[in-house]
Amino acid sequence: MKKHYLILLVLLSACSADPVEPEVPAEEVVEEEVVVLDYDNDPIYSKGRPNLLNSYWGIFKESAALYGIDLSYIEDDDVNFVSTDLRDNVAGRADGSCRDYVRILIDETTFRNLDTGEQIFLIYHELGHDVFNASHDGGGLMAPNIRSIEYTLFQTEVSDFFTKVDFLEWTDEECEIIRGLTDG
Ligand SMILES: [Zn+2]
Repeated sequence: MKKHYLILLVLLSACSADPVEPEVPAEEVVEEEVVVLDYDNDPIYSKGRPNLLNSYWGIFKESAALYGIDLSYIEDDDVNFVSTDLRDNVAGRADGSCRDYVRILIDETTFRNLDTGEQIFLIYHELGHDVFNASHDGGGLMAPNIRSIEYTLFQTEVSDFFTKVDFLEWTDEECEIIRGLTDG
């Protein structure tokens, strides 16, 4: 009798030791979503519309405002993006350097084939020329070759541009030459 009792106990304890399926916790653990910013989801750059070139003026103003530069003194109507054919695969050119207007020539076919980062880089570079008379000698954003650039590095270049860390204006002599080139 005693023996049976023992066996029963063992059976019972074995039974209770059976692995139990872990219950799904009532509260789900919500993992924090880490959004990696890039040109395409940046709150400012993502507003650029290749088929609406004037949208880039809005985002350039917004970027400038981040660094305390208010460009609202420039009327939107005085900023012109002119769709044109540019040779040699050139996507854009500043036409208002050293002048009191902003006119950016864009070859839309070439422009639309650029990726978002290249488009933003190009527009900021050309507006840098026209709005601030920035020369290529400042480097960074104003370095002469429009290039594809990693997002975080671009942020630094934009910051260095608007805070005048990397910024040099065209000299009067250079402006004379530029005006000569863009005349007619
Ligand atoms: Zn340039």
